Amino acid sequence: MIELEKFPRVRLAALPTPLEELKNLEKELGGPRLFIKRDDNTGLAFGGNKARKLEFIMGDAVSKGADIVITTGSAQSNHCRMTTAAARRLGMDAALLLSEKSPPPVKANLLLDTLMAAELRFHYADVFTEMNELMAGWAKEFAGKGRKPYVIPVGGSNPTGSLGYINAVSEIARQSEDSGVVFDHIVVAVSSAGTQAGLVAGVKLLDLKTKVVGISVNRDTEFSNRLLKELTDLTLQKVSSGARIKPDELIVYDDYIGKCYADITPECIRAIKLLARTEGIFLDPVYTGKAMAGLIDLVGKGRFKKGENVLFIHTGGSPAIFTDENIFS
Ligand SMILES: *Cc1c(COP(=O)(O)O)cnc(C)c1O
Repeated sequence: MIELEKFPRVRLAALPTPLEELKNLEKELGGPRLFIKRDDNTGLAFGGNKARKLEFIMGDAVSKGADIVITTGSAQSNHCRMTTAAARRLGMDAALLLSEKSPPPVKANLLLDTLMAAELRFHYADVFTEMNELMAGWAKEFAGKGRKPYVIPVGGSNPTGSLGYINAVSEIARQSEDSGVVFDHIVVAVSSAGTQAGLVAGVKLLDLKTKVVGISVNRDTEFSNRLLKELTDLTLQKVSSGARIKPDELIVYDDYIGKCYADITPECIRAIKLLARTEGIFLDPVYTGKAMAGLIDLVGKGRFKKGENVLFIHTGGSPAIFTDENIFS
């Protein structure tokens, strides 16, 4: 058991999410047994991995008396969309600092942010560094007006958010026990690394044999490993564990990014179409399409073998399908 009761939490996600076998995809690929964890079905404004992180982040915000949350991402950030929804559900306001050179078309996630009446500012800057300073400045502005702001880092990736994925590992372990299927690998899309950090910490705390394999959508392996190590160790400290991540537990592939973040590779499009055609499941073009392209390639290369069980985490992102329908033609 992992004790998370001492951390403030608000219920925002529909849990447990389903865990299903992808029998048709297995036939197509002819390798290991393949399963999918439907974290695209968490609910909260179309669902996704951020719902689990936000249960603990917003729990902390509520316990500190916040009445407005400030966060950052790109215009098509799933995290910004879901944070705004969480804030609205809890009767709070949301302010989004979006990293864009000029205000982009109001479509998909940005359309949803607008419908939820998030306060928007556009500024082109690095979301890991400069944006933190700008968010702190914006928080001061709100505080000056008598508001109680609460700042959330990009992707909701901090040790508080990662608690949500420790919780997901408990859920997966129960589903694994019920079905008798033991997972050799968990495959997940990685950007700001909070999801993978929570998964790695959870696997460690439950002493599972499962390897957590990250597929990066933007940063190279060296950068991603550094983020993952830092965040996993801080998350383990947060739950008062003396364990620390070992070098062989840092597994992040950077071979499926293409040119940059949100560069939609032909392999990503093929993976999206394959899942839609074989399973009626929709991946997104920025995260899960690339992660699935990675999984397919690693099956082809024998990295995931016949006789093994591989669990893919569907981290959501489906509204992004509607940013530009032409990418699929
Ligand atoms: C944010 C996001 C991820 C990446 O999660 P991190 O914790 O930032 O690594 C993956 N998939 C989707 C759909 C996301 O929105």
